[in-house]
Amino acid sequence: MEPKPQDIFVLVPDINEDDKAIITKAFDFSKNAHRTQERNSGEPYFNHLFEVARNLARMNADPVTIAAGLLHDVLEDTDVTEEELTKEFGPEIVFLVQGVTKLGHLKYKGVVRHAESLRKFFIASAHDIRVVIIKLADRLHNISTLEHVPKDKQQRIAIETLEIYARLADRLGMGSIKSQLEDMAFPYAYPEEFEKVTTLLKDYTSFTEPHLAQVAATLKEELMILEADVTRLDYRVKHLYSLWQKLKQNDYDITKIYDILALRILVPTVSDCYHALGIIHGLYKPLPGRFKDYIALPKPNGYRSLHTTVFDGSGEMVEIQIRTEGMHHEAEYGISSHVYYKEIGKNKDEKTTLKNIKKSDWTKELLEAQKNIESPEDFLKHLHLDFFEKRVFVYTPKGDVIELPEGSSTIDFAYAIHSDIGNHISGAKINGKMVSIDTQLQRGDVVEITHNERQKPNRKWLDMCKTTFAKTHIRKFLKEKGGMMDKMLLR
Ligand code: MN
Repeated sequence: MEPKPQDIFVLVPDINEDDKAIITKAFDFSKNAHRTQERNSGEPYFNHLFEVARNLARMNADPVTIAAGLLHDVLEDTDVTEEELTKEFGPEIVFLVQGVTKLGHLKYKGVVRHAESLRKFFIASAHDIRVVIIKLADRLHNISTLEHVPKDKQQRIAIETLEIYARLADRLGMGSIKSQLEDMAFPYAYPEEFEKVTTLLKDYTSFTEPHLAQVAATLKEELMILEADVTRLDYRVKHLYSLWQKLKQNDYDITKIYDILALRILVPTVSDCYHALGIIHGLYKPLPGRFKDYIALPKPNGYRSLHTTVFDGSGEMVEIQIRTEGMHHEAEYGISSHVYYKEIGKNKDEKTTLKNIKKSDWTKELLEAQKNIESPEDFLKHLHLDFFEKRVFVYTPKGDVIELPEGSSTIDFAYAIHSDIGNHISGAKINGKMVSIDTQLQRGDVVEITHNERQKPNRKWLDMCKTTFAKTHIRKFLKEKGGMMDKMLLR
């Protein structure tokens, strides 16, 4: 079937004539620019651009982003120049296209080209989050057509998808994109493990799924009798790749994983969440230590929900997740869900778009830190050390949230607030108790820093902190101090 602009329009809610015009213009321009090219599968290359645009529309992207999605390969793969593109579409779209365009083959080679292109992409993303959204929509289509790519390239692309793009989607709270990327890349990245996990899951669900359907039916009835407001009650099966991650931590013992099948209850309001939870804990005994309130304490990527695991009365355990429709939508689409979904109580006239969320905290941090990184290889290392590490969420005494990689200490916290506070940290309190400054932070800690002008960083601090950000500042301080000492000695 021949792609048509209408196939994109139908995916954009409330589309107007101006939106249609810009999408159509980009559609025609891109189709013409790529007219002689083919995909590995033999189909017209433009089909890729069309599918990327449709992915973007499904992710709630604005019309300008969709247009940029249609044009995202013209600079890299066709004769169209930056000047031409600017003349036709203006600097905003060109910036977005530039952000996802790899650096030229001539100037950079091999791993350096790859690392530099990635760095360029992250810097552009830090200025405008829509660059990431386009890259994810691009990768989503490429990974779904990976069968057509030469065998020797498949595994590399699949692993890169898992290590960079799925994690990026996760950082942005785009759960649905993350799971799709992971589950499509998994068989190409780790074929044997994929087979093993698939078989394990099949055996497990053939036994437990009918049982769970029964529990769901009973629970639905009970909730109705007790007049709890429930919009939807169903269950989901854990995605293969995330199941594999958990299996690896549990010696491949599938019985140790409690959330392979989880009941999901959607309710209208936040208070309905707690009401439903109360009813469930009254009916079934909860498994101690498994209850998680991600509504009061959301995950660093913004995920909100109540999780509990209960004994269902037949000797089995079931995980139950309770959330509102809004939270559910957010869990699927993350940062891009904010375009159409607004928090209850927020100013209704204020139009939230991806364009407005240009700079988010995580990109600011990345932008700041990469200033001090010299080589492309160091950039890749830093990316994996800090940026994609598991994150903890801690608070200042005023309740401001600070996000840090797992294993961070109060020193990292101090530097995250301000380099001056980091350089002069003299003590710390966690949840009101005095601790040593090398203490590691746990999720939800309230951290109070005391600082003193006379206190200064020393070499030992480098082992007491985790983030590149803190280490860079400490080294800088030591170097400057060293320089001063040298000058003093020379005198
Ligand atoms: Mn592409």
